[in-house]
Amino acid sequence: MLEEFPRPASEGVAEVPPLLIPNLQRSEAMSSNADYPPQSPYWTGILGRCPRCGQGKAFSGFIDLAKTCDKCGLDFSFADAGDGPAVFVSLIGGFLVLGAALWTELTFEPPFWVHLVIFLPLTVIVCLGLLRPLKGLLVSLQYRNKAEQGRLKS
Ligand SMILES: [Zn+2]
Repeated sequence: MLEEFPRPASEGVAEVPPLLIPNLQRSEAMSSNADYPPQSPYWTGILGRCPRCGQGKAFSGFIDLAKTCDKCGLDFSFADAGDGPAVFVSLIGGFLVLGAALWTELTFEPPFWVHLVIFLPLTVIVCLGLLRPLKGLLVSLQYRNKAEQGRLKS
């Protein structure tokens, strides 16, 4: 029979360093996640699920976030991805589509209308296809890393 020894507090969960300014505090919405098993921010984000429970939907529209999670009630008011998704869509989508267009031009030298017919719709598809997963990913990472603006205790 194995005997259980008390583990030191520093083992297992990494300790969060105390905030340097004592008046700064984290909002309640992002700190009350003790009852839920940890979720991969990558999968919950890419699949558009709630970053806390991994079950509920994070989006109410195509890229509109829901007000709360329909399963666990997580308040999504903390989420502010800002221009982050658009930046990553521009960089990743531009790299993919422009790379494909250059390769096509250098390999086949097609007439210009072929580029228009292929790469204009492809640009729209790639950008719209990346937008929602990237926004979900950024919101999940924001939740996971408790990234938010500092607030003064009033
Ligand atoms: Zn949830």
